[in-house]
Amino acid sequence: MSIPFSHDATPDLSHAFAHIDTQRQQFLDRLIDYLRRPSISAYGEGIEAVADYIAEVMRKIGLTVQILPTAGWPMVFGEYATRPDLPTVLLYGHYDVQPPDPLEEWISPPFEPTIRDGRLYARGVGDNKGQHFAQLLALETLLACYSTLPCNVKVLLEGEEEVGSPHMPAFIAEHHQELQADLVIISDGPVHESGQSTICFGVRGVLDLELRARGANRDLHSGNWGGIVPNPLWTLVHLLASMKNERGEITIDGFYEHVQPLNELERQALASLPLNIEEVKRSLALQRLDEPQERGYFERLSAWPTLTINGIHGGYGGPGSKTVLPHEAVAKCDIRLVEAQTVEDILAKVKAHIQRHAPEVSVISHGGMDPSKTPLDSAYTEPLHQAIRAAQGTEPLLVPAMGGSLPEYVFTKTLGIPTFGVPYANADEANHAPNENLEIERFFMGIKTGAAMLAYLGAMQNK
Ligand SMILES: [Zn+2]
Repeated sequence: MSIPFSHDATPDLSHAFAHIDTQRQQFLDRLIDYLRRPSISAYGEGIEAVADYIAEVMRKIGLTVQILPTAGWPMVFGEYATRPDLPTVLLYGHYDVQPPDPLEEWISPPFEPTIRDGRLYARGVGDNKGQHFAQLLALETLLACYSTLPCNVKVLLEGEEEVGSPHMPAFIAEHHQELQADLVIISDGPVHESGQSTICFGVRGVLDLELRARGANRDLHSGNWGGIVPNPLWTLVHLLASMKNERGEITIDGFYEHVQPLNELERQALASLPLNIEEVKRSLALQRLDEPQERGYFERLSAWPTLTINGIHGGYGGPGSKTVLPHEAVAKCDIRLVEAQTVEDILAKVKAHIQRHAPEVSVISHGGMDPSKTPLDSAYTEPLHQAIRAAQGTEPLLVPAMGGSLPEYVFTKTLGIPTFGVPYANADEANHAPNENLEIERFFMGIKTGAAMLAYLGAMQNK
């Protein structure tokens, strides 16, 4: 049966959902076939073959597909145009996977997909092949049931996400015309620990820094030279102490200048996220959370920047004692940025601070990415919310921004498109770890959710 898609405010998805239920086995078999093919961007294994493979899958579904080169691994880009008056959705995912090491910790081999206890085990099953494959099968389902899609769809699959998307900013700038869309949906990462679905509106940014202090041209005897020669470790310790106080406040001039306070909607969303602080403390064997104490748990993760010392190194740390006056000290730090801070501005402020407090310390930036945030009251929030309810029977949690960092700013800032994270994977998917897995029901739920999101977005016309 094939009927034109109805652009009613409440789409009837029963036909599409029934189709997905009857196709379960072949959908799963096809995912398994995809997962058998390694595509490890870290050292290039299988990347080009898998780009060709998934491009062919997308062509067979009915998309117009191009494999677009970058200075690294290629992007796979597909399009299906329905009607110009309907919304255009850009679905982003990545076809590369993490290296599978350590191999000996896998119960079944990483590229021999295996089902155990309702879960499919394979490298990349959650991150991200199972999730974008679900999106593609949603398109296939809608086309099979209605011979058209409820809105215009673009699909962008990256081949370098697992190595930090080094060519994404240049690619997005170069192809901004083809990538124009009304919204971006990213299905990656896990749902909430409680098992509830989430709609994620943003991510924190990150800036990686290395601070290097030098003293004499070689290590020296602390008795013969202590009090004469400056100690680069003390230089770094004083410098770091000048950057953050005991109250937990970052004391770099102007650091908080562009931090946007949470609005009422964001406060409400954060307040409704499930949380058991005592359990968190117990599981981490903590007596207290970090300063400032009065700050809310999720507010810390989504609305406040951090300065983390990742490591501080120099001198002697071996057994017994060694009365050395070291000649060099290094601190590695990261700064998590929140809307509307930028990497460029914060790096300049850090450099100005160091120039004032310890001009002999050199600052090396190891790159970063800007934060990203889409407003919770976006016109697309409601249809996505309704679609998740229709496909899954439960309400999604709304997460204003995740604590971690992804290059979502290329969509929200470079392209100016609201961007929504709608993950499908279980919270214990073990992405980047041995025994990566995806609950099979979540894969099918992902296909239904993908179909429902497009249907509800297409139905916005009549609202
Ligand atoms: Zn990953």
